[in-house]
Amino acid sequence: MLPARFELHRPESLQQALALLATLGDDATAYAGGTELLIAMKARVLRYAHVVDIKRLPELHGIRIEDGSKLVIGALSTHHQIARDPLVLQHLPSYAELSDNIANIRVRVAGTIGGNLCFAEPHADPPALLCALDAVVVLAGKDGRRRLPMAEFILGEFTTAREEGELMQAVEIPLPAPGSRSAYRAFGQLERPAAGVAAACHATPQGLAWRFWAGALCSPAARLQALEDSCQGLPARDVPAVIIEHAPAAVAALEVQDDLHGSADYKRHLATVLALRAAKACLS
Ligand SMILES: Cc1cc2nc3c(=O)[nH]c(=O)nc-3n(C[C@H](O)[C@H](O)[C@H](O)COP(=O)(O)OP(=O)(O)OC[C@H]3O[C@@H](n4cnc5c(N)ncnc54)[C@H](O)[C@@H]3O)c2cc1C
Repeated sequence: MLPARFELHRPESLQQALALLATLGDDATAYAGGTELLIAMKARVLRYAHVVDIKRLPELHGIRIEDGSKLVIGALSTHHQIARDPLVLQHLPSYAELSDNIANIRVRVAGTIGGNLCFAEPHADPPALLCALDAVVVLAGKDGRRRLPMAEFILGEFTTAREEGELMQAVEIPLPAPGSRSAYRAFGQLERPAAGVAAACHATPQGLAWRFWAGALCSPAARLQALEDSCQGLPARDVPAVIIEHAPAAVAALEVQDDLHGSADYKRHLATVLALRAAKACLS
C-alpha cells in the first residue's frame, strides 16, 4: 500500500528544520532513514500531512571525540557507519559490534541511531548497552539544546521523553576508563532481538564494579541492580558462578510480556544466559 499523500520538506540546517517542525506541529514528522517510518506510513498506521526530511542537516552528522572525554555520535549516523567508524572501533568496540549485528545490511545502511532511539520500538539492541555505558542524548528544540541520560529517554514502548518539535542531535558516550570492558549479547529468532543484555565492568580499589542492563524483552531497558550487587568486587574467576546463581532472581523482577518473540518465561531465561555470555565476553 502507498502512504497517504504528504508534502515533503527538505530543510538545509537544524535551525530551518526546527522552525518548520514548530510551525507544522503534530501534522509533521521527521524522516531520517525511513526504515521504520515508511513501513508505518505505508501500512497507514501513521499518517502525516508533512514529512520533514532531516538527512541534509549537517549538525546531525559525524562521529567525533569531544573534550577528550566523550564520543559524540551524530543522530543521523547509520548503524553501518557506526560499525565501521575507526573512533567507535577504537574506543567502544562493543558498540561497533552491536551496530554490525542489527537487522540486515539493507536496514543498517539506511537506519540511523537517532531513528532507532526516537521510534523506541521495544525489540531494539542499542538502549541496553547505551544505558550501561551512561550515554546521554542531545535534544535540540526551538528554545535550545538539552541533554538527557539515555536511561531517562525511553519511557516505554514507542514512547520517549522527546518533546513535540524536538530533534535528537547526537548521542554522547563517555570514553571508558582504561581497563574498562563492555559487551552486549542478544538472541532472537525473528528479525529483531527477543532479549539482549549489556554488561560493563571497570576496576576499582574494591575490585571489579559491574553494570548489567537488560533490553528488548522489556521496555524501557532495565538495570539489573541486584545482579550488579552480587558481582561487585568479586575476583573475575568467581563472577560466572555468581551470575548463574543470581541472574534468574534479577530477571524475575523485570516486567516482561508474552509476544511473538516468545513467552515471558522463555525471554527471562534467555536474559540469564545472555547476562552470563556478556559478562564472560567482558572477562575474556
Ligand atoms: C526489518 C527490520 C529489522 C530490524 N532489526 C533490528 C534489530 O535487530 N535491532 C535493532 O535494534 N533494530 C532493528 N530494527 C530497527 C532499526 O534499527 C530502525 O528501523 C532504524 O534504526 C530506524 O532509523 P531510521 O533512520 O530509518 O528512522 P526513521 O524510520 O526515519 O524514523 C523513525 C522514527 O524516529 C523519528 N526520528 C528519526 N530520526 C530522528 C531524530 N534525529 N530526531 C527526532 N526524531 C527522529 C521519526 O520521526 C520516526 O518517528 C529493524 C528494522 C527493520 C525494518
